[in-house]
Amino acid sequence: MRLIHADIVYSEDRETLAVHPDSYIAVDNGMVKGIWPVIPEEYQNVPLTDHGEAVLIPAFSDLHVHAPQYLNRGLETDLLLADWLEQCTFPMEARFADPGFAKAVYDAFIDDLIANGTMHACVFGTIHTEATAYLLESMDRKGIKGFVGKVNMDRGAQEDLLEDTRGSLRETEAFLEKYSGNRNTRPILTPRFAPTCTRELLRGLGGLGKKYGVGMQTHLVESRWEAEQAGTLFPECSCDTEIYEKAGLMDNGPVLGAHFIFPSEEDVRILQKYDGYAVHCPDSTISVIAGIMQAGALLDRGMRICVGSDISAGHHMGVYTQAARAVQLSKLKQFYEPEGNRKITFPEAFWMATKQSGQLLGNTGTLAPGAVFDALVIDGLSDTARKLRPEQTVERFCYIGTRENIRARYLNGEPMPG
Ligand SMILES: [Zn+2]
Repeated sequence: MRLIHADIVYSEDRETLAVHPDSYIAVDNGMVKGIWPVIPEEYQNVPLTDHGEAVLIPAFSDLHVHAPQYLNRGLETDLLLADWLEQCTFPMEARFADPGFAKAVYDAFIDDLIANGTMHACVFGTIHTEATAYLLESMDRKGIKGFVGKVNMDRGAQEDLLEDTRGSLRETEAFLEKYSGNRNTRPILTPRFAPTCTRELLRGLGGLGKKYGVGMQTHLVESRWEAEQAGTLFPECSCDTEIYEKAGLMDNGPVLGAHFIFPSEEDVRILQKYDGYAVHCPDSTISVIAGIMQAGALLDRGMRICVGSDISAGHHMGVYTQAARAVQLSKLKQFYEPEGNRKITFPEAFWMATKQSGQLLGNTGTLAPGAVFDALVIDGLSDTARKLRPEQTVERFCYIGTRENIRARYLNGEPMPG
């Protein structure tokens, strides 16, 4: 057991932050045992780590990120989705046929993820099984909770990124077989999106999902261009989400649909029917995708919404910045399209980036008793002339903090080196 002293902040529920200033948290066997303003009598002899006036918060979850696009972050963001894929993203992803290159990029990606306080992640690889296996194994070894997908594509991209349908399914099955029993990082089906997948491929993946009890991540009603492509290629489906439902991909495990910018009523109905998650990636959507999620309205309808960095359509590795940006974008949405839209609050955005997503990956993303203790210590955000309250420190961190403000990290109750 260990005791940690700090100001403690986490999401109580969607609308409320729990704030425990100047408090002690007990962690036993990797789990939070309790929080008290003074050390309880029975814990007087337990080793204590004192973080003084720093703030202890749960670690963040990035539920939509493309590891192979790491070297592209912050580049060529003046393009729109279709051109960006063709000119920037696909040529980079083709390089992951080289396992040596993939190793170097993935090592740097994972280090940066952890440095930015992300300890839970749902990650896209590429079509290349060997490179994606290295990514999954490395994340699992570091203890990152989440999912990694070998991407499936059998049409709609440059030649060297296209798989033949049977080969794609064979490789995916081998990937699932090898890693489905993992403890931390597990495989997830990852059809890139409707424009790059045939009906046969999606149906085959649906069969694998059922056989291995594995969920799916993809891009859902990402942009008008993507939705139109999906409608043209799958005329038998009334909306983008129905394509995956018809293929049997929605009821085998968690379903994550990135962006969900232009959902029809049918899209919303189907995603909610399967308790799916819509992943809000604010920087990405104001960059190459050009649309704003109706986050407030969807939250009010009970939609599960999490947050993603979407490197490299998004450009910042810190999901904490995306919590801030989600608040900003919701105001623009309300201003330009007031009907049915509302701004979201900072506690709601923080909840989406921590507790809501942590619940998908295990009992984490919160510091409430019973939770798995994955946490960050943040500091250095007050002004000399204005000392911030703990919850203000958290908000300021999301707006103007950097990885340098993260002074310590805990994973499964243990301090991380560095
Ligand atoms: Zn994406």
